[in-house]
Amino acid sequence: MPPSSAALLRWYDRHRRTLPWRALPGRTADPYHVWLSEIMLQQTTVAAVIPYYHRFLDLFPTVGDLARAESDTVMAAWAGLGYYARARNLHACARAVAAVGGGFPRDMAGLLALPGVGTYTAAAIAAIAFGQPVVPVDGNVERVTSRLFALTDPLPGSRKTIARHAATLNDSTEARARPSDFAQALFDLGAGICTPRQPACALCPWREPCAGLRQGIAASLPAKAPRAARPVRHGAHFLLTDAGGQILLRRRPEKGLLGGMLELPGTEWRPTPWREAEALPFAPARADWRAAGRITHVFTHFTLHVDVYAAHVGHFPNTIARIGGMAVPHADLDTLALPSLMRKCVAAAWPERAT
Ligand code: SF4
Repeated sequence: MPPSSAALLRWYDRHRRTLPWRALPGRTADPYHVWLSEIMLQQTTVAAVIPYYHRFLDLFPTVGDLARAESDTVMAAWAGLGYYARARNLHACARAVAAVGGGFPRDMAGLLALPGVGTYTAAAIAAIAFGQPVVPVDGNVERVTSRLFALTDPLPGSRKTIARHAATLNDSTEARARPSDFAQALFDLGAGICTPRQPACALCPWREPCAGLRQGIAASLPAKAPRAARPVRHGAHFLLTDAGGQILLRRRPEKGLLGGMLELPGTEWRPTPWREAEALPFAPARADWRAAGRITHVFTHFTLHVDVYAAHVGHFPNTIARIGGMAVPHADLDTLALPSLMRKCVAAAWPERAT
């Protein structure tokens, strides 16, 4: 028996989540709100995103406001959400949309041409904001689909097969009459009922057609290929302060990890630890450096251990210009586009300062 769209939509009408970017029943969602929330939600939880979403709408009420904002203002508002390439793409996308009058494209092809908009995000905007009959396949929908059809091949190899099955979920007239609600119903089912560890199958509107439940394998799906251990890298960064209440920062290269973000000067990140004698030549100035501790930060593809050194001088030497250094009042630290990793370094070297 194929899963009934009508049953899912009935369930959704009773149990839908209230989310700040979600339109009220019967209303059409604002494409800017949908796009902004979807970019923020990539790799991040709903609870973590909500305060950022409100802050962005306060600062940039329209896509035009976001497009006109300074890059540093956008990065500072984003700081803490991680994956800064997404913030840069977000800004580039806002500018692309503003350049054609501020209206988002309504179809998949137009949406996919925007910076930072992949298949999932394009489908989410097309379905939710423009009522296109497409099924956005995120992690929630992958999980529901693999269980519903008992697809046991492991991710990531099975991704295409899962997507093919997911695309059949909205084949019915009922689903095609309400594409926006149907997409969001799938998200809510995955987030609230068909949860990763212990799906609440007794409450599920699709328990009867669910092959995973029938075969007793639902909770084990989607299967995942074993992951290679995450590699480790090491670095050293230096917190230099002066008597004028300033801190020394520099900007990372535009390309690469944390591209364009501010950082404490430091070494490259390499597979082997830095001995103190090896690291100190990379310090931004001669000073009485003290080892201030080690912090660990987990990126998607590696774990980074950073030895943090701290020193205080009367005034910064002229040579800081050679390393692209900039003196910033430490009172301004909280409003700067400083990535979480660097905030951890500042906190390690300077615990008495709440960052
Ligand atoms: S019956 Fe259980 S496993 Fe199947 S879709 Fe519903 S919650 Fe998920």
